[in-house]
Amino acid sequence: MALIIRSSAIHAAGCYTTEPIKNHTRVVEYTGPRISKDQADEKYENSPTTYLFGVGDGSKVIDGHGIAMFINHSCDPNCETDEIRGRVWIKAIRDIAAGEELTYDYNLYDGDEDEASCNCGAAACRKSMYSPEELARRVRVANRAAAKKKK
Ligand SMILES: [Zn+2]
Repeated sequence: MALIIRSSAIHAAGCYTTEPIKNHTRVVEYTGPRISKDQADEKYENSPTTYLFGVGDGSKVIDGHGIAMFINHSCDPNCETDEIRGRVWIKAIRDIAAGEELTYDYNLYDGDEDEASCNCGAAACRKSMYSPEELARRVRVANRAAAKKKK
C-alpha cells in the first residue's frame, strides 16, 4: 500500500493514499508499544495530543507509533478499525481513489473534560470526535446535574 503523510485540511498532518484502494481492504495496522491504560494516563497527563488506541476491554492501549497514527478522524470516514486477535487494522469501508485522505471515526469514549471538537467538514459532522453513545451519555450527565441544581 502506498501511503504518504502530508498536511491536511482536517487537522495538522494526514495520511493519504497514492493508489486506489478497494472496499474491505486491510490498509495498515495500528502499531506501537502496548501499555496499560494507567501507564498511558501517567505518561500523557500533561500532553494535549495523544495517539492512544484502546484494545480488548480497554485496560490496554496501543501507544501509536507508525503511519496509522496520522490518520485523522472524520464523521463520514472511508475506513474503519477492526480488531483481530488483539491487532488493530485500518480497513477500507468503500472504494477509495488515489489521492484521497484516509479517515476513520475515532468514536472517542474517554477524554475527561476536553471537547475533542471535529472539523471534518462532512455534511453529517457531529462536531465532536466522541462516539454518538458518549455524546448521549454526556447529555444525560449534564441534564442530571442541571436537575440536581434546581432542587
Ligand atoms: Zn466531523
